[in-house]
Amino acid sequence: MPTYDYRCAEGHRYERLVPIRDRDLSSCPACGAAGTRLPAAAAIGGVASAGLSREQMPQTWKGTGGANPEYVRHLRRQWDGRQRLEEKYPELAGDRRPVVAHEGRYHDAPLRAGDVPAPAAPASPAED
Ligand SMILES: [Zn+2]
Repeated sequence: MPTYDYRCAEGHRYERLVPIRDRDLSSCPACGAAGTRLPAAAAIGGVASAGLSREQMPQTWKGTGGANPEYVRHLRRQWDGRQRLEEKYPELAGDRRPVVAHEGRYHDAPLRAGDVPAPAAPASPAED
């Protein structure tokens, strides 16, 4: 199965491994909107891609197209390229510290190992 590049109405760009007969049917993984397949020429000559980050890589068996060998090889090549890029530009690698809290007040800004937790909101008004 070939991979195709798509862009959704919200402007997210993503890639999918799909059978040729289904190549025009795709929904955006970020927002669920219908995606438009980009012409192959645009995918090749378009904006240089930094590749998928560690967090964007498929995390599940299903995400790899059921461990589809062709897609896994493609991911492997992307990942190798990404690693070389991250060696050159470490800022691409992002924060590698483990996330220790990501729920409640840490939903939007996960607490990572080494961070100082912000004080919790006072339970009752301060007294003098
Ligand atoms: Zn989208």
